[in-house]
Amino acid sequence: MNIEQIRKDFPILQEKVHGKPLVYFDNAATTHKPQVVIDAVSEVYQKYNSNIHRGVHHLSNVCTQAHENARIKVQQFINATHSHEIIFTRGTTESINLLASSFSDTFLKEGDEVLVSQLEHHSNIVPWQLLEKRKGIKLRYIPINERGELILDNIDELINSRTKLVSIAHISNALGTINPIKEIIEIAHSKDIPVLIDGAQSVQHLEVDVQELDCDFYVFSGHKLYAPTGIGVLYGKEAWLNIMEPYQGGGEMIKTVSFEGTTFNELPFKFEAGTPDFSGSVGLGAAIDYVLSIGLDNIAQYEHELLEYATEKLSAIPNIRFFGTAKEKTSVISFLIGDIHPFDMGTMLDKMGIAVRTGHHCAQPLMQYYNIPGTIRASFAIYNTKEEIDQLVNGIERVAQLFG
Ligand code: PLP
Repeated sequence: MNIEQIRKDFPILQEKVHGKPLVYFDNAATTHKPQVVIDAVSEVYQKYNSNIHRGVHHLSNVCTQAHENARIKVQQFINATHSHEIIFTRGTTESINLLASSFSDTFLKEGDEVLVSQLEHHSNIVPWQLLEKRKGIKLRYIPINERGELILDNIDELINSRTKLVSIAHISNALGTINPIKEIIEIAHSKDIPVLIDGAQSVQHLEVDVQELDCDFYVFSGHKLYAPTGIGVLYGKEAWLNIMEPYQGGGEMIKTVSFEGTTFNELPFKFEAGTPDFSGSVGLGAAIDYVLSIGLDNIAQYEHELLEYATEKLSAIPNIRFFGTAKEKTSVISFLIGDIHPFDMGTMLDKMGIAVRTGHHCAQPLMQYYNIPGTIRASFAIYNTKEEIDQLVNGIERVAQLFG
């Protein structure tokens, strides 16, 4: 991979922060956008902006085609069987809320259980907690060990006759742990229980094949995959989506409406109420093309090199404490330095032009497990370099000296 060339694809990397060249290590929160994605979105508005699906005029047809082509790109990207199994949403959070709402309307009743894990993002905790209140279901979780790996010893008790859905992150946003989702899916399926995988931190780092995984639902956000904000995906097996209640009403999700009653549209439109974000979907399609042009294997290999390099360099800093030391992990490093508060570290690094994330990373139960308020998190993407990691290490050492 030619990293210098890749860096040129991302105009924002030329920006200065506090007069210093930007070093961006907040990729797990959101990634930057290559010019091809920015151009694809601009082109929508410059050349064929029009509301989709219902128009008979030229622009509407062109725009509809572009939106539906993007759906096919997503289908191929995650190897779904049908393009109508791809539902466009605003992002991972909306995808999980959609599922929580529709799945529970159709299948959940008081006393039923949903199983998550202790390292979930709040987006895969709170929607189920809302159902605890509304429906009287019970949310349970798979515990983790000190390294930030799931403990599956009691999985047979945790996935029991009351369990109606297992919902697990593919990769932890706070620690980078790659969870053994294939094994969990197999166990759940041996008991006829469907599985939702939160892939917000996965699709940008490794190849995902939903047929091979055999998961029932898979969700992710475009903006962490070099695509625009405001577009995301819910993949669901056709058989599930067909029997689930719709989420929101209005727009393209209907077939007929009368005051006597409404019939719903076919997949995927049944779950896409209102005007869809067609510029977002086109941007997502362009981002998928971009990532595939580099190759997910190449990306995974390069980011792994960055992870190993950063781990080695950071390990030499006195009083560093790492969180998330799983054997299987992606390019996320969470740590604390002595007693320095993560916000202080983050603020001072920012003055040097270095962007890291500090805090609980929307994973407060995980922080409670470690008994800490938060961590400093550096997360890498395809445009990061070893030189930037050296700058990070240097910056941390300077801050540590200041705090004595
Ligand atoms: N799940 C995981 C694992 C995440 O990392 C994130 C975002 O950081 C989300 C869910 C929520 O994603 P979004 O804010 O794009 O909806």
